[in-house]
Amino acid sequence: MGVHNKASNAGVLGELGRYPLYISSVAGMVKYWHQLASSNVDCSCLLTAAYNTNMNVLCNVPDSWISSVKFVFTQLNLKTMYDCPQNFTTNQIIRKVIGKLKSVFRASWNDMLQASKLRTYRTFKGVFSFEPYLNIVKPYNHRVALTRFRISAHRLGIEVGRYKRIDLVKRTCNYCEEEHLDDELHYLLNCEQSWHRRTKLFKTISDICPNFILLDDNSKFTWLMVNEDRRVCSLVAEFIYRGTQERG
Ligand SMILES: [Zn+2]
Repeated sequence: MGVHNKASNAGVLGELGRYPLYISSVAGMVKYWHQLASSNVDCSCLLTAAYNTNMNVLCNVPDSWISSVKFVFTQLNLKTMYDCPQNFTTNQIIRKVIGKLKSVFRASWNDMLQASKLRTYRTFKGVFSFEPYLNIVKPYNHRVALTRFRISAHRLGIEVGRYKRIDLVKRTCNYCEEEHLDDELHYLLNCEQSWHRRTKLFKTISDICPNFILLDDNSKFTWLMVNEDRRVCSLVAEFIYRGTQERG
């Protein structure tokens, strides 16, 4: 994604909409368990005998394989599936387990987001899902600039001031005569530094969406950030990239 290693994890995960690998590992474990658990208990094969021994001897022993399986079902509130595996197909169980694990992860991501420094990002990033602009914006530099901008991995005053422990109200824009907080909204919508390019950008965007110009600043900003139109994504990414180049 081209962001530095101090970029917010909540932001990077949110942009990619990618679930952690442990979900597929747990699903694999559960699938294997169900194949054993739903097989004939009277079967004399070695695996079934080993499984039955596990169940009888180790299911309450911490760190044993079978207790880990039980732990997963208990934590996900799916104990019925664990207790009566023969009542469900493997696919039903896997779908349910994966669905629950993803739901738990999304909730923890949302908590991470709320607790993070990403005060602007959380105003427009509502859903944990892959961001289409990552495929739409082809020039690498433009795409990276947009990602950095969205997840506050940039050099705007609001962020630089945070590193330097400058009071929020003093993180003002060096490119405007009047004092304005140098945050993402200011940079995209109002900064004097990019006035000519912005006028051109907004004219093009108004041709695409005539009502755009009628929106207030907050709505304009959100509209630009969540837009999935190819032209809008590409124009916004280019605008942000050119601005970062101009600022140096
Ligand atoms: Zn400015």
